[in-house]
Order: sequence, then C-alpha cells, then structure tokens
Amino acid sequence: MIYLDNAATTRPCDEAVKAASDAARDTFANASSLHKMGINSEKLINNAKQVILKRLGCEGELLFTSGATESNNLALFGIAEAYKRRGNTIISTAAEHPSVARALDRLEKLGYNVIRLAPKDAPDNFEEYIFNAITPDTILVSCMTVNNEIGYITDTPKLYRMIKRKYPDVIFHTDAVQGFCRILAAGDLISVSAHKVHGFKGIGALYAARGVRFAPMIYGGGQQKNLRSGTEPIELIAAFSAAVEAYPTDNSHYDTLNKLLRDRLSALPNVKINSPRDRGISGILSFSVDGVHSEIMLHFLEEEEIYVSSGSACSKGKVSSVPDAFGISAKDADSTIRVSFSHENTAEDIDKLVNRLEQGIKRFRR
Ligand code: PMP
Repeated sequence: MIYLDNAATTRPCDEAVKAASDAARDTFANASSLHKMGINSEKLINNAKQVILKRLGCEGELLFTSGATESNNLALFGIAEAYKRRGNTIISTAAEHPSVARALDRLEKLGYNVIRLAPKDAPDNFEEYIFNAITPDTILVSCMTVNNEIGYITDTPKLYRMIKRKYPDVIFHTDAVQGFCRILAAGDLISVSAHKVHGFKGIGALYAARGVRFAPMIYGGGQQKNLRSGTEPIELIAAFSAAVEAYPTDNSHYDTLNKLLRDRLSALPNVKINSPRDRGISGILSFSVDGVHSEIMLHFLEEEEIYVSSGSACSKGKVSSVPDAFGISAKDADSTIRVSFSHENTAEDIDKLVNRLEQGIKRFRR
C-alpha cells in the first residue's frame, strides 16, 4: 500500500497509539475531579498544552476542541460575537477550508460584511493585498497558513506583524492545520488538528494569545476556563502531544520527495502542476492530467493500492471553489490529483506512482 493522502489524514504514529493506551489505563480520571487521580489527569493535559504551544512557537492559552472544524468555528463565531459592537467587517480568503468558508457564509447571513479575497488576484504579495483591504470597520481577519488543496503558503507571521503594527485591535485568526509542525504560523488565534500530524481524529486545538476575548460556542460544565465545556478527552490529548513530540523537526525529506515528484511529473505529457514552486508547502503537490477526470485516475491508481486525492477529500465529490481562487480553470480542476506526503513515504513510492500515472495517461488519453 502506498498512502499519499496525508493532507486528508495521517496514520496515527506508534507513539500516539501508546500514549493513548497508557492514558486509558493509567490516567483516565476526569481532570475536574478533586482527588489525586484527577490532578494527575490535569497535569497530563497541562503538559500536553506546553508541548503543543512550544511547537506552535506561541505563549498563551490553548483550548482542546473536537478538531480544527470546531476550532475554526469557535474562532470565527466567538470573535464575531465578542467584537460585534466594535465593527461589522470580516476579511478572509476565497481559498479557505469549508470549516471556515461555511462559517463565514453563516456570519454573512447573520448580517456581517464578509470580504473574501482570492490569491489569484495577488499571488506574489497576498499578505499586502489582505492588509490593504482592512477598513476601520474590520474586526477580524482570517487567512489560512497553508491551503489544503494546492499547498499555497501565506506568510502569516508577516501578515500578523503588519496587521498588529497598524491595527492592534483587529484580531487575526489562521487555520494552520496543513502547516502545523512544518512551518511557523502566527496569529491571535490559531487552529490546529491532531489527525494531520499522526495523532487521532476527533481532537484539535485553538491557540489564543493573551488578552484575546471570544465568546464560547459550547456551554456546560465550564471546563477549559468556561471557553469550551465538556470533559477533556485525555486519551486523545495524550496522543496529540505524543504525535507532536514525535513529528520530525526537519522538512528535508518532504523537500526531497516534492522535488523528485515535480521533476518526474514535468517530464510527463499532458500534466500541469498546480502547486506553486516558490510558495508551496513541500508536503502537498497538486497537478492536473489534461483530459482525464480526477476520479478515473484516482481509481486507476487505487487498483495498484496507491492512494491519492482528487482535489480535497473534504469536498467529497462536490465541486470546490478553491481552484478558481488560484486561477485554475474548471477543466483543469476537474482533472486534479493531490498527492500529499508524510515522512513515512519513500522515493520508491514516488517511482511507483509516476509509473502508474504514465500508464493511466496512455490508457485514458487515447
Ligand atoms: N482546515 C484545514 C485546512 C483542513 O485541511 C482540515 C481537514 N481537512 C480542517 C480544517 C478540518 O479539520 P478537522 O478534520 O480536524 O475538523
């Protein structure tokens, strides 16, 4: 099996599996319980927070959520509600994951003025383009760090610095799911997810810088400083932290695989690479095979147990508006294949993928 769909999800690493099973056996108490066992659970959670904060390169608050979908919703709805008296405009991009995009649609319905900027309109200086769109009425800017379909990187540390220098009251949120553990993100609020970094599904986090106020979305027992009620899933948290600790700190393996695949694809007829060379994360490579529908190629690869994605796994057959935001034509979008690596992939995997793609091109482009 050659698994090249790591932007959709990753295999939980051995360290994560062990940490979850150890916690389930030894540290299963409710972190709100006042006895020693409860305190031990609380300690485990606090240690996990420190591990994740350190990897984010941030100091502040970290809330555990059910995943980045919840983190993104909490950030957007939480800020929109907390700052509604200050202004009504939210600036974001046309390339966001549905967990941001659909939340913004809802906020628009609730009366907020939502502006969605497309990277294709300023591919080389998207940060300035977003910054220049800020108006006195703006309360929130939300821009992803790495696009999940194309791998396009926005320099969020630069954008965050620019925003805070001129507009200290504007809140900046970034969905950093696809960049976490690989490139640095920055923001007042940062969303991450465990299952993209070899942890388990069903757990994510929202980082919040000190002093950033936002309204909760889930009400209940008041856990996590009243900002996210619900008993903390200690097994998932333990696994998340173990996965982050085990995650490589060096991107060179991804860079090597990316270059290898790029070079091999460039030599294939009818293949167009969609991911930008200079602003793309090396773990994601998207390309279009002219005239071959994505799903045809996906299943052809699958016959050899090579697993890739057509665009984004999240859209599940639905047409995504993201390719258009990058200037990719509807025809090319229809034949997009997304390959996404993990450190477990090898050069041999790339070799097998390209050989099979070559066969596919010959077969379907007659
Ligand atoms: N944002 C991005 C960029 C993603 O790729 C994903 C996962 N597809 C999410 C958010 C949602 O994360 P989760 O699956 O943890 O809800």
